[in-house]
Amino acid sequence: MIKSAEIIIIGGGIIGSSLAYHLSKLGIRDICLLEKGELASGSTGDSAAIIRHHYTNEISIRLVKDSINILSELQHETGNHFLHQNGWVFLCPENADSMFDLNMKQLIDLGIETKEIDIKNTISLLPNINPTGISKVAYEPDSGYADPKSVVESFAKIAKTNGTNIYTNTKVIGISKSNNQINSVETDKGNIKTNKVINAAGPWAYDISMLAGINLPLTVSREQEIMLTNPEQESGLNLSVSNMVDKIYLRPKGKHSVLIGQGHPKTNEIVHPDKFNRKADNQFISETQSRVINRFPNLSNFQLSSSWSGLYTITPDWHMIIDNELSLKGYGIAVGGSGHSFKLGPSIGKQLAQEIVSSQSSSINISSLGLSRFKSNKEFKSTYGGNRG
Ligand SMILES: Cc1cc2nc3c(=O)[nH]c(=O)nc-3n(C[C@H](O)[C@H](O)[C@H](O)COP(=O)(O)OP(=O)(O)OC[C@H]3O[C@@H](n4cnc5c(N)ncnc54)[C@H](O)[C@@H]3O)c2cc1C
Repeated sequence: MIKSAEIIIIGGGIIGSSLAYHLSKLGIRDICLLEKGELASGSTGDSAAIIRHHYTNEISIRLVKDSINILSELQHETGNHFLHQNGWVFLCPENADSMFDLNMKQLIDLGIETKEIDIKNTISLLPNINPTGISKVAYEPDSGYADPKSVVESFAKIAKTNGTNIYTNTKVIGISKSNNQINSVETDKGNIKTNKVINAAGPWAYDISMLAGINLPLTVSREQEIMLTNPEQESGLNLSVSNMVDKIYLRPKGKHSVLIGQGHPKTNEIVHPDKFNRKADNQFISETQSRVINRFPNLSNFQLSSSWSGLYTITPDWHMIIDNELSLKGYGIAVGGSGHSFKLGPSIGKQLAQEIVSSQSSSINISSLGLSRFKSNKEFKSTYGGNRG
């Protein structure tokens, strides 16, 4: 274990790994990433990792666009294939029509490749769909999903090649400071001197921040997903689908399996990240299965092959909180993914790395994501609410 580092990143999920990668690309060699489990063992590993641009606010749209470019480059750099740009479809109910129109206008104004399609074209993209009750449909041909573990491992591999020290199975248990300046991080394997720490600890970010004496407005919820499989039959689903009509999202996993979760509006079950049921509930499984079969009747021949629960880390306005430095000198945060930040993570790591290295604004100005927004009434507003952003 090293004795000192210029920058310590706590957390090896999408945020921490992207930050390490981008800092190392900017020439910082003395980086240390600490992960208490394996890489991507937190929310990132449990994520559906669906990627779409359809957001209410400009900054999220720009971050997604940049993230897709970063992931494409990372594929070339590593030779790994983890980005599936098979397209994304949004099924909108009638009561959200006007919000849909507002979002689409902004997306098109920002140059995002998206279009509204009619039911006939929807059926040509999703041949097994039951179109009942769908009011509007958006299609993004360049969106889709990614393999989240492979993305994190790819970021980490390059960061490591560039000299980053990555310690897995190493838990942060203390943060020391003097004169309001961070001076070391304590782990279960020893202490590391440093003047700079970034908290990217996902659902544990609140606890980590309390080690530094800083309270963050974060809550953690348990979120369930299921996988349906039929080894004898193809699902016919090639795209990712956010289905606000039935409040579910789904995406393919190979040709014979489909991953499904429930979307907002839904009740979020607040839990502690160290004490929650990793299995999905029977009621959730049957309800989710019935919603998806109603929309895609061909999936009635598919069996439950796995189910699990992961964690959202929710902020008061359902958008991440990112600060290069808070009131404690040397302490920065990139926390509160709020159930939709896998797709933002690659670019968030890049923007934060630029701020850390140059102490100036990043190529996409992320200052509006700072913690101070909650005190100055500058919280983000979202058209559809929850993690739909
Ligand atoms: C079921 C589910 C579905 C989702 N679907 C989508 C989706 O379709 N699209 C999308 O964009 N987003 C989605 N998300 C959200 C997305 O996955 C998260 O916003 C994102 O992965 C959060 O990444 P992170 O790096 O902040 O946190 P994490 O991935 O949780 O990483 C934090 C890491 O910090 C480590 N850590 C914590 N405490 C310590 C400590 N004391 N010492 C050392 N290490 C520590 C943890 O072990 C963990 O690995 C989903 C999330 C869930 C749970």
